[in-house]
Amino acid sequence: MKRMKFNTKTIHGGQEPDAAYGSVMPPIYQTSTFAQSSPGVHKGFEYARSGNPTRHALEKALASLENGTFGLAFGSGLAAIDAVLKLLKPGDEVISTRDLYGGTYRLFTKIFEDFGIVFHLVDMNEASNIEAFITPKTRLIWVETPTNPTLNIIDLALIATIAKQHKILFAVDNTFATPYLQQPLDLGADLVMHSATKYLGGHSDLVMGALVVKDEALAKRLYFIQNASGAICGPQDAFLALRGLKTLHVRMQRHCENAKAVAEYLNQHLKIDKVYWPGLESHANHEIAKGQMKDFGGMVSFTIKGNNYEAAIKMLEQLKIFTLAESLGGVESLAGHPASMTHASIPKAERERAGIVDAMIRLSVGIEDETDLIADLEQALHSIAV
Ligand SMILES: *Cc1c(COP(=O)(O)O)cnc(C)c1O
Repeated sequence: MKRMKFNTKTIHGGQEPDAAYGSVMPPIYQTSTFAQSSPGVHKGFEYARSGNPTRHALEKALASLENGTFGLAFGSGLAAIDAVLKLLKPGDEVISTRDLYGGTYRLFTKIFEDFGIVFHLVDMNEASNIEAFITPKTRLIWVETPTNPTLNIIDLALIATIAKQHKILFAVDNTFATPYLQQPLDLGADLVMHSATKYLGGHSDLVMGALVVKDEALAKRLYFIQNASGAICGPQDAFLALRGLKTLHVRMQRHCENAKAVAEYLNQHLKIDKVYWPGLESHANHEIAKGQMKDFGGMVSFTIKGNNYEAAIKMLEQLKIFTLAESLGGVESLAGHPASMTHASIPKAERERAGIVDAMIRLSVGIEDETDLIADLEQALHSIAV
């Protein structure tokens, strides 16, 4: 069964009918504890923080999809990142991308910096930028690709080589790409992280995080942290995530098709300045994206001509099918304003250095009919003066 194709794994990977009655979907084991016949004698589960069968089924599915060996599910994406950072000690150093997800940036700089972890946020498009910051204390390289919201693509195989040379743990936030588009462990990463809130869950109905690793010692330490710190997800959410995973490949295919149509439409529009979508030949990292990803994903960002902030806000207010909301990766199309929403916790000067200007709009292109999506953008653009 190791050789299952991805589109089969989303449905069957790591999954078996439930042991009790053969139910095809794992039951929602809504329980905090499990009966023991004698102290320490039980059927594999004792207390639901340490392990729950529904969560366990999800963790196996996640490991299978990322071509890993061990999966861990958490109460949110940030809880999963928090667990990874707890591998570190005061004085340890981390190198990461500059245009990080705002919440990750906040966790790094407002929580873990106070515990003595040192973060270097660099432009990772040049390998030499990373090497310049490596010291004997560098313990972790943390990468997002595509990045949020400018959709830069980072060469994972190249960074894996550098990380291996210096024996640094290499972690990839694979939230935007999903394992449908890229499998970082196969490219040499040690750890993959997800906000399963987004594409993995896929229906905007849960908040969840995930980690997948190959190495057993690393997995053991992370399971220890998961249990010791306690940021697990509940069984109901684990069930919903498993249900979502089963259509990941079908949803992603449509997300990518619709995003292509939307990006190409926006790219020729006179009221629009720049379009960020890795599938466009004009995208700075298009060649890396072509080599590293199966397709180019469902996220599209763009800026209004003249960095016109008022016009960007008006456009967001006018959209009817695209819902103005935080988050991404669900079946429904969403639009957001990174500067005031997802990236508001990053200081303005730092934000703008990363290209996140006030007239930038980020779209999470859903799986509706593409002509309806484009008509919605058309009417909203028609309403603005630039
Ligand atoms: C949403 C998100 C997170 C944080 O995940 P939560 O589930 O919201 O805690 C981390 N990284 C990326 C890229 C995200 O989009």
